Amino acid sequence: MLAAGVVVIALYYWLASLGSAWVAAQVALFASAAGTMAGACFVAARRHRPSRPAMLLLGAAAAVVIAADGVFCFLSVVQGEVAYPSIADIGYLAAYPLGAIGLLLIVRRRTPGWDGASAIDAAIVAVSAAYLTYEFVIAPVMAVTTGNLPTLVSVAYPVGDLALIMVGSRLLLGAGPRSAALFMLGGYLALNLYADTAFSIQSLNGTYQTAGHVDGVWMSAAFLLAAAVLHPSAPDLVASSSTATPDATVGRLSVLALASLVAPASMVLQYALTGNAQVIVAGGACMVLFMLVLTRLAGLVAAQRRAAITDGLTGLRSRRYLEQALCTEAARVQRSGDPLSMLLLDIDHFKKVNDTYGHQGGDRVLVEVAQRLRSLARPGDLVARYGGEEFAILLRDTDPARGHEIAERIRHGIAAAPIAVGDNRLHRVTISLGVAGMAATSSGNIDDIVLAADRALYAAKDAGRNRVAAADDPTQPNLAAAHR
Ligand code: GH3
Ligand code: MG
Ligand code: MG
Repeated sequence: MLAAGVVVIALYYWLASLGSAWVAAQVALFASAAGTMAGACFVAARRHRPSRPAMLLLGAAAAVVIAADGVFCFLSVVQGEVAYPSIADIGYLAAYPLGAIGLLLIVRRRTPGWDGASAIDAAIVAVSAAYLTYEFVIAPVMAVTTGNLPTLVSVAYPVGDLALIMVGSRLLLGAGPRSAALFMLGGYLALNLYADTAFSIQSLNGTYQTAGHVDGVWMSAAFLLAAAVLHPSAPDLVASSSTATPDATVGRLSVLALASLVAPASMVLQYALTGNAQVIVAGGACMVLFMLVLTRLAGLVAAQRRAAITDGLTGLRSRRYLEQALCTEAARVQRSGDPLSMLLLDIDHFKKVNDTYGHQGGDRVLVEVAQRLRSLARPGDLVARYGGEEFAILLRDTDPARGHEIAERIRHGIAAAPIAVGDNRLHRVTISLGVAGMAATSSGNIDDIVLAADRALYAAKDAGRNRVAAADDPTQPNLAAAHR
């Protein structure tokens, strides 16, 4: 599709270079871009039921543009110079609401709930685009057009583009699968908006010419959309998102920062020429303030993210983090073949600690055990609080035999010295540990290694506590029967 597009565009420019004799063929080639887009959308609507309403609307948007091109050509043949605005403008303008509603339907399918965060992100981009559009297109257009209708129609084009920017940014910044088709759709919007804006500015300056670069960009946009909706990943465009709100990633924050800086930066640049110090200082202050506010927000996001993966009492990694790491490590085991071991450990008779020294005394024991685990583990090992007084350690590049040795070392390290539980009282704590391993030959299912370590841990408890049990140890009589 894209290759065909390149050929058509090249042919279009070649014919244009031959002069006016080939103008009809040239017009036909130009219209074939929107024609391809309309056809592709209608094919996509037939192929995939859930995207049908959106595809029909996008196809209709392309179809009304072709119809308007036809009317425009007819008028120019009949009248010579076409008066502005003409009946063709109705078709060109009708394409905006059709396209915008089509995109909105895609957004609704991807994120059925109200994703407030993405809506705000999109609003930031849209307001910044609105400022630029007003500054460079709407205000100059209003300054040069005379008469109510021409002004209204001229302003309607950039306003239509703004509506597309709004819905387009909501689509691209919202949650949902980020497929190749989505990126191509984003490319279509960007190219189309660029061409529309360049056309408006060139029309203002009187520099627009057919077969200038703007026509090529319009045609490329249409072919790109046709490729997007026929791409194998096109059904993902309307696939429902698995998360309600996307993460505040560095990329997203950078887009927002850039959008926030656009208006004051353009103001500062323009007034730098006339030397209006007050405006420059106000614009500069806005830019610095936006960056400071955004840095503060980025700090909050980072703190929140840290809190989500850290256990509040012990400062160890949370169970959630361990489970994510386990997925990554399991994939690595399957890929590289390096072994992985997991230790699951539980403090022996911890209820007694709570009963004797109170909950606070119990907490002090938990904090000290966590501290000792951290210093007993090797630098690359992941130590996490798995539950109340259960901990887990992931040992990378470690087979279960070596894992067993490390578990013994940790068991000794915990039992070696009593722990201070307040009021000069000391308590000697022991732990029981279960060891399980994952190799490239195993299933790669993370539930298996966790379950195996859990069973080994309870086998160690059953065998009398303060000991290590291995998941694959056939001499461990209680292993098979051990359940929580
Ligand atoms: P076992 O040797 O079989 O493990 O005996 P146990 O007494 O340790 O039994 P169990 O593991 O079931 O006990 C868990 C206790 O840990 C129960 C719960 O009150 C206590 N606990 C869980 N979370 C916390 C915590 O954050 N702080 C304190 N102080 N106690 C906790
Ligand atoms: Mg216990
Ligand atoms: Mg327990």
